[in-house]
Amino acid sequence: MVRVRCERVADLLASGRVKFFCRITAANCPDCGDDNSPFACSSFGNHRVICLGQPFWDDMRAGRLASMLATLMHEPFHIYFGREVTEHRDNAGKFGGINCIVQFVFEANRRTAPARVTQRCTDMAVRKELEFE
Ligand SMILES: [Zn+2]
Repeated sequence: MVRVRCERVADLLASGRVKFFCRITAANCPDCGDDNSPFACSSFGNHRVICLGQPFWDDMRAGRLASMLATLMHEPFHIYFGREVTEHRDNAGKFGGINCIVQFVFEANRRTAPARVTQRCTDMAVRKELEFE
């Protein structure tokens, strides 16, 4: 299943149908607000747009390639799979966890995922539920 998800997202990226914007605004990405502080935000369905936020540009300025790659990998999963599968909610579990898939892609390519990706995957609901049993 992870392989299929990654293939679909790779196909989407290769299609040239995703439009990127340099700033997060509701005008550019209708499902996002005007808060430019996240790494990125995207709108799915027919929009297929990714708005890159200030932390992405901070990464670029600092040469943090892995973090930039994580951001660019993360958003197309939202676009392809939409709200139900990949929305970030506390009760989504790892099944819908984009951060866990992104971490897997880094590891499969013998690279180290950014700490924020690894931490968010670790903190997903399934792990938390196990800790409280
Ligand atoms: Zn996300």
